[in-house]
Amino acid sequence: MSLNGKTAIITGSTSGIGLGIARELARAGADVVLNSFTDKDEDHALAREIGEEFGVSARYIKADMSKAAECRALIEQAGACDILVNNAGIQHVSPIDEFPTEKWDAIIAINLTSAFHTTAAALPLMRNKGWGRVVNIASAHGLTASPYKSAYVAAKHGVVGLSKTTALETAGQGITCNAICPGYVLTPLVEAQIPDTMKKYDMGREEVIEKVMLERQPSREFATVEQLGSTTVFLCSDAAAQITGTTISVDGGWTAM
Ligand code: NAD
Repeated sequence: MSLNGKTAIITGSTSGIGLGIARELARAGADVVLNSFTDKDEDHALAREIGEEFGVSARYIKADMSKAAECRALIEQAGACDILVNNAGIQHVSPIDEFPTEKWDAIIAINLTSAFHTTAAALPLMRNKGWGRVVNIASAHGLTASPYKSAYVAAKHGVVGLSKTTALETAGQGITCNAICPGYVLTPLVEAQIPDTMKKYDMGREEVIEKVMLERQPSREFATVEQLGSTTVFLCSDAAAQITGTTISVDGGWTAM
């Protein structure tokens, strides 16, 4: 599979799944644009390292995915966008009646609305070339719910719906749009949930991982960022040209239950 000559923009790609996807797209030959909301030397260094390791052009562009104008500016600044991976996401866990409004707003903005803005900005570029791939990183929580994750579950269900609509509006134009629905992946986002869960259930780290987190995941194994990267590369391949408007679960069987 060669993605030589394609430019891929991956939102929220300085850590976790986004970084894993950026690395696998670069391994497949794509030029990559990394993104987050910071502008640190290490952000640019990360892009340089990927570029050197895989012999592709790799850049870092700062853009805050909670801000509409910055979402659209990311695509404009990149100048090309053959592959768009909407990955940036945050989490907050709380009962609905105690859920802070600012957290709700931030989750909906970063996890859902940003994908609307980047997609709107990227589709004209893809249509010009008659080729494009939009890959939205949803979640098992885009297909099913858990208590205390109202904003996240609502946003991820929204991402699945947006993916279907994008697919219908681009069908027959050489462009596809799909949502990948990961189960638990041991990234900083998930690490951050472990201490609170340990306190809540009075459990140790390993017990929380086994009995609370992976309890939903029949394989009892985390999915890896490399697996999500390879799934993204597959969706960019010619073999996947007729796969559009659907979800691919990478969740160890979670949503089969
Ligand atoms: P992570 O915290 O490791 O990475 C999130 C990335 O998004 C980081 O690079 C961060 O800098 C960036 N980001 C956060 N806020 C941003 C903003 N305002 N603007 C731009 N970038 C921003 O998280 P992760 O686990 O790799 O999650 C990535 C995506 O995968 C998220 O959409 C998440 O919901 C989804 N997901 C994760 C899991 C999991 O188990 N880790 C499971 C299902 C879905």
